[in-house]
Amino acid sequence: MSNQLFADVLVEVPVFKNDRTYQYRVPEKLEGLVQFGTRVRVPFGKQKVTGFVVGLSARKAVARVKEIIDLVDESLIFREDQLSLAQWLAGYYFCGTVKALQTVVAPVLKKTTPRAVARLYSAVDPVQLPAVREQLSRAPKKKAAIEAALECPGLNKRELAAVAGVSLSVINQLCAMGLLKVKTDSSMRDPYAHYKIVEQNPVSLTGEQSRAVRDVTRAIQQGGHQVFLLHGVTGSGKTEVYLRCIEQVLRTGRQAITLVPEISLTPQMVRLYKARFGRDVAVLHSRMSDGERYDEWSRIENGSAPVVLGVRSAILAPVPDPGLIIIDEEHEPSYKQDEAPRYHARAVALYRARKSRGVLMLGSATPSLESYCRALPGGSYKLINMTTRINGKNMPRVQLVDMRREVQSGNSGIFSLALLQKMREKLHNNEQTIIFLNRRGFKTLVVCRECGMVLKCPRCDISLTYHADGRLRCHYCNYRVQAPKRCPDCGGNQLGYFGTGTQRVEMELAAALPEARILRMDADTTTRKGSHEQILSAFARGEADILVGTQMVAKGLDLPGVTLVGVINADSTLHMPDFRAGERTFQLLAQVAGRAGRGDKPGEVLIQTFTPEHYAVQAASRHDYSAFFQREVTVRKDMGYPPFAKMVRLLVLGKDDTAVQQAADKIRQHLDGFVTRLNGEKIQIVGPAPAPLARLKEDYRWHIILWSADYRQLRLVMEQFWQVTGGVAPGKDLRLSIDVDPMHI
Ligand code: ADP
Ligand code: ZN
Repeated sequence: MSNQLFADVLVEVPVFKNDRTYQYRVPEKLEGLVQFGTRVRVPFGKQKVTGFVVGLSARKAVARVKEIIDLVDESLIFREDQLSLAQWLAGYYFCGTVKALQTVVAPVLKKTTPRAVARLYSAVDPVQLPAVREQLSRAPKKKAAIEAALECPGLNKRELAAVAGVSLSVINQLCAMGLLKVKTDSSMRDPYAHYKIVEQNPVSLTGEQSRAVRDVTRAIQQGGHQVFLLHGVTGSGKTEVYLRCIEQVLRTGRQAITLVPEISLTPQMVRLYKARFGRDVAVLHSRMSDGERYDEWSRIENGSAPVVLGVRSAILAPVPDPGLIIIDEEHEPSYKQDEAPRYHARAVALYRARKSRGVLMLGSATPSLESYCRALPGGSYKLINMTTRINGKNMPRVQLVDMRREVQSGNSGIFSLALLQKMREKLHNNEQTIIFLNRRGFKTLVVCRECGMVLKCPRCDISLTYHADGRLRCHYCNYRVQAPKRCPDCGGNQLGYFGTGTQRVEMELAAALPEARILRMDADTTTRKGSHEQILSAFARGEADILVGTQMVAKGLDLPGVTLVGVINADSTLHMPDFRAGERTFQLLAQVAGRAGRGDKPGEVLIQTFTPEHYAVQAASRHDYSAFFQREVTVRKDMGYPPFAKMVRLLVLGKDDTAVQQAADKIRQHLDGFVTRLNGEKIQIVGPAPAPLARLKEDYRWHIILWSADYRQLRLVMEQFWQVTGGVAPGKDLRLSIDVDPMHI
């Protein structure tokens, strides 16, 4: 009885209030095995659950202590600093420590496949193929799986099932029938093994680049915490600055993390990084298999890959001592995770850089207002400007097309005459066009097609959206008004609705230009692994004249054959019911305008809009960040929105609209109570109101938004709320999501 040991365990129970640990006795057979950082199986109520060991002590804290049943894994799951990171995430984002820790160590927990992966290949040889196709003609699922195995050999069972869109049992049946054969592959999985690495000649830096590298290098050598905002126009050579700074940090024996926004950006970055750092690079992105990710994770953890390149979640990588963290395109919304923990990679990067006394470098041609405000004189970030393009190339010419004139002249189609004319011209000259649509189009926005007017909420300055009951509604404060029949500004009766999908654009395009070969790239056409690259490379090979797509086509803007980029409707982002609508519009248009025409022939950009006079559209067309910033910052200040305030959004979801509304009302009452008790008069609360996507996947969604210039007060209110409710929605079958610093409302 003398040397008894007790473990503090964070149990993995799905809906779990607060962040407390439970104490369990370590049985004799597990002595020395149960350690900080292991996972154990324990009794919890009537269930048996798993949990994380976060502490050990010789003293019993409560009278009755149950015993640990068993150890779950052979090895340690997390380190001290990873638990600290999880605790910080839990505290900042109100998501619970268990959820946060599960996220921080996700690649290790998902290591369900053994090191040796069974890869699948079709056992059908070409001669038999027609017969097998015939044989499977009445089994479309099996046929789909065989076709997928032929097309993408070497996937594991789960991946093949996903690619073919069938269940695992179909795959297993095909194995049993001998139509699929299994090969076991036990080497470290290197998803980039097939990449040709092109050796690059070292370039000599431009003056602006050397200055940037010098400033950051100095901070790296001093070894203190420092944040830089690298504001560099597109094509100013930011990537080369990143690479040189990483070289510097490696010399100090520390590691570097680079984040890039989207999967579509990684292949070209990966090539650059691999060319410079070879096997020192570990790549992490969302389309890797769990096994591939785990292998890269291990290489980072054991120190054999000091250079990490990845998307958002790479900020959680187990890098022992990050001396430099780089966030490329720091303004991109994809850095915010849209499930719990709803973290922003930039916020996590700040935490990690501060903790490790490292340097954080944020790069962008269109910095977020949040970052730029901090980089103004007197702010905590240092601003580095790169204002010229590398090879002296000019920014492409941007032309704004006033869609109101089109309507007046009787054209009610998606395309303006000017854009159609330009596309015909390009087609004639064998040059390519990209047609760009904004992904987040709302079908319910109302705009006057004659004067461009959009109705806004008088209280929140947010665009009102149309509802089936014939009313317009504010998605922040729930203000409602009867939808007018005529435009209140100009009296016109052409009130139109936004929300044009890529498919409709493709159809209208095919009708207008029947001789054009069209490719489409959107969420529907890119579900398969590698389909992005396939579409883009087909386009690059000249297999189509026009590529229609959402944000994903942005990368295609670098293709030299493309000399025209058309933006269908700048207004669909401009009038999103979100206080960042202006910022998002500017960023998107500036990105399009800045990346087009990188080849030998100059590029042209046509932007169609009903509000060509809007400052965000104007500034983007002139490549003028500063003009945009000056105007946007006044709007935000006037309304008291971020970055002049901290914001939290509480979203209630459920299948029963009334129950969701009632729960949201109850939460609002709770919050009002906390605010009164804390004298939190500086806190704004609006709602409940239906969320802009009021119904999604069968769920009704109502939200409440809180914001305050006094961050401390807002935190106190939220901490109270978390203590009392544990983040659980008040009602059966309802869910609550807490979003701190929301990116999309
Ligand atoms: P950004 O990320 O700022 O938009 P990139 O990093 O993509 O710009 O650089 C634009 C182009 O200029 C790339 O093709 C890159 O290889 C090239 N480049 C960068 N620095 C130099 C340099 N010092 N000399 C010559 N070419 C350079
Ligand atoms: Zn409102």
